[in-house]
Amino acid sequence: MKRLRIAALIITIASLTAGFFFSPEKRIDESAYLNEVAPEVNFGEKKGMPPHYGPESGITAFNTYDIVPSIRGYAGPIRLLIALNSRGDITGIRILEHRETKNYVQYMLSHEYLKQFTGKNVNDPFEIDKDIDAISRATESVQALTKTVRESSRKVASQVYGLEVKGPAGGKQSGIGWILYLLLFLAAVIFYFVTRKTKVLLRSRDICLVPGIAVIGVYLATPFSILHIFNLVLLRMSSSALWYVIVISALISIAIAGRFYCGWLCPFGALAEFIGRIPSRKWEIAPETDERWRRLKYFLLCLITAVVFTTRHTEYGNYETYITLFSFHGNALTWSLVALMLIINVRVERFWCRYLCPVAAFTGLLSRKDRRYISRKDCPMANKHNPLISECIRCNKCYIGK
Ligand code: SF4
Repeated sequence: MKRLRIAALIITIASLTAGFFFSPEKRIDESAYLNEVAPEVNFGEKKGMPPHYGPESGITAFNTYDIVPSIRGYAGPIRLLIALNSRGDITGIRILEHRETKNYVQYMLSHEYLKQFTGKNVNDPFEIDKDIDAISRATESVQALTKTVRESSRKVASQVYGLEVKGPAGGKQSGIGWILYLLLFLAAVIFYFVTRKTKVLLRSRDICLVPGIAVIGVYLATPFSILHIFNLVLLRMSSSALWYVIVISALISIAIAGRFYCGWLCPFGALAEFIGRIPSRKWEIAPETDERWRRLKYFLLCLITAVVFTTRHTEYGNYETYITLFSFHGNALTWSLVALMLIINVRVERFWCRYLCPVAAFTGLLSRKDRRYISRKDCPMANKHNPLISECIRCNKCYIGK
């Protein structure tokens, strides 16, 4: 395990270095898309403050990142090219670049969704569920997109055309998501410590796993993902309080109890575990084969770390089953993987968590040694006696105390 940790560290540092020196973030050439948002208008060079093209023929175009760079979605700014006429009406819009997880924002990126902004006046409310359609499972991204359009258009309308515009109000931010997540996390931490002392309460883990599926999976649709870590390392900060709660709580829990998240909160792990409890004959996997297969998740993590940090495109790391399942979005391949990973649990407990999950590999690599976990016959991870701590999800069944 020590060698694995060193290898992972070397790969991360080497990939980050390669990414920063050989693959700098490419600046998108917005001028190539001017014709798309304002057909038949010949703009000259970008000029002025705020930076904008035009106004030619009564139309001005601008890159929203030049105007409101601090507004961020779930994984960084959403850059748009917008065309605005002298009355303050949006006449064209296009997304230039974003870092949101595609599974969640596929519809938001579509022409069909974006066209609702066309024809709107800068003084319209731009409020989700009022004059802008909400998209379930992409709330944070849609809020950021709407705020970006509203604030940048009003600023350009005021400073370029001298129009009177409303203040920056509008677009209520929902605080319920991060509060729910934090409460669930704190409840899990309390139960974790209680079950180390009192074995009769071991079943209370289910009290966390069920809401984990319902709240983190179905309602918030934001399971902790390796993309959170990639975005953190690439300094692509979010404006979402939920994002910070997920990342900070995950890092704290790793420091305290290794793969605690896998055993107490992960909605996909919970589903896998419940399916694994269906009485059936389990497949016998020889210990050497099991050990070899468990290394696969570290190999996959190193591979995607190298690809993501070299290319700086986090979407290459997006093979996580829980993203497909809880975003309700994927392709034939990712949905097949989800189905296979769920079904196979009937015969092999927590198959995905044991062999393939990048979050399991990440949390496992950072788990601190603890010899008080000795495993037992009904271990949900089918761990051998005295297992590696990186394979223990801290269910506390076998915890032997001091
Ligand atoms: S080793 Fe013990 S604490 Fe860890 S998952 Fe297995 S039974 Fe639970």
